[in-house]
Amino acid sequence: MVDASGTEAGRPVWPRRRWLIGAVASLGGLAAGARAKVQGETAEGALPIFDAHLHYSHDAWERLPPREAVAQMRQAGLKRAMVSSSNDDGTQKLYAEAPDLVLPVLRPYRSRGEVGTWLRDESVIGHLEARLARYKYLAIGEYHVNGNDADLPVMRRVVQLARERRLALHSHSDADAVERQFRQDPAARILWAHSGFDSPANVRTMLRRYPNLWCDLAFRSDHAVVDGQRGRVEPAWREAFLEFPDRFMVGTDTFTPERWFFVVEHARWSRAWLADLPRSVAEAIAWRNGERLFAQPWHAGAR
Ligand SMILES: [Zn+2]
Repeated sequence: MVDASGTEAGRPVWPRRRWLIGAVASLGGLAAGARAKVQGETAEGALPIFDAHLHYSHDAWERLPPREAVAQMRQAGLKRAMVSSSNDDGTQKLYAEAPDLVLPVLRPYRSRGEVGTWLRDESVIGHLEARLARYKYLAIGEYHVNGNDADLPVMRRVVQLARERRLALHSHSDADAVERQFRQDPAARILWAHSGFDSPANVRTMLRRYPNLWCDLAFRSDHAVVDGQRGRVEPAWREAFLEFPDRFMVGTDTFTPERWFFVVEHARWSRAWLADLPRSVAEAIAWRNGERLFAQPWHAGAR
């Protein structure tokens, strides 16, 4: 479902022209008037959004400076965002720009290319330990692991580090790898990226089995159809949301720089399909779950 070009069936991809306009604006810095307009565009009373899945990696910060990235987040009406980056400097830059908005998550990758190699690279552990000694985080992730790779020594050490430091795990995994992590630490708290790209029936089975499992809906569109401002939730997913209203969150997944210009559109799209759910369920998925689970403990213990 996810390919390197950033396209996905059935889902709008931010047009190239819009990216160029954004890039030009960011190069020159937005004029004061333009900035005021951006802020004014955030609809009063719109459902706040807790975006559980953002990355601000090196190619993003080179093209979109932290101030402009934060402007995108505020224009989208984000209340909070969990950010992890390849490398972690991106997360720190964004956190310094907006500590009220950004919740730092530590990614094991020092560069984008490590997605496929990190599990067999013991130096990843030293990197994680050095960052954990220097900065505060609420989770380790998002990392990619499937099947029995979750029992490799590097992954085991990640689960251990999370346990020692009371951090959550943001895992882009199949169900098997999630279960292996829970076997290593039954008290682990796992945010299952993209709900594993699994079916709503399998996601419900996992949620029933693991009370410390939460799911983000980033970069998938099968749960909702939006036509204009009107949204509809797919029936099998509706059952899942109604059975577990306190276990889901939304997320944009800015895995390429261009997707930063999709943050606003993603928030709008999320509000449209969430409106098809009972208000309390919509609010839970839009922001209350993330706020309760991650933001409140973070701000209670933040320096
Ligand atoms: Zn991601």
